[in-house]
Amino acid sequence: MAKRRRIKRPNVELKPREEVICAFCDGKGIDPFGILSSKSICQVCLGKGKVYIEPPYIKCAFCGGTGVYLDKRLTCTVCGGKGVVTVPEDAKECPDCLGTGQAPDGLPCLMCRGKGVV
Ligand SMILES: [Zn+2]
Ligand SMILES: [Zn+2]
Ligand SMILES: [Zn+2]
Repeated sequence: MAKRRRIKRPNVELKPREEVICAFCDGKGIDPFGILSSKSICQVCLGKGKVYIEPPYIKCAFCGGTGVYLDKRLTCTVCGGKGVVTVPEDAKECPDCLGTGQAPDGLPCLMCRGKGVV
């Protein structure tokens, strides 16, 4: 008999999330690069100009808070384009990348996953 796969739910209460201005579109809600059309909505905030992040959060080290991945017109893979990332309460500077979030090859640091803190 096949078991039904249960949907895993985190057993922590839903934490309050804070509203921040979308870094990718700078709160405009429009795709800053207009890849599809100049009126394309921002894929990060879906046109709202705002995103939600679970505190505590810091500016994304990898993209420097821009939400853009290495000027390649893509959303930052670390913060997903939000420009901010949730970090542990007692976050410390990553000893591997010294807080830059970048590995020597320009990819997100493996130790902190691009956040710059661990
Ligand atoms: Zn946006
Ligand atoms: Zn980022
Ligand atoms: Zn690191």
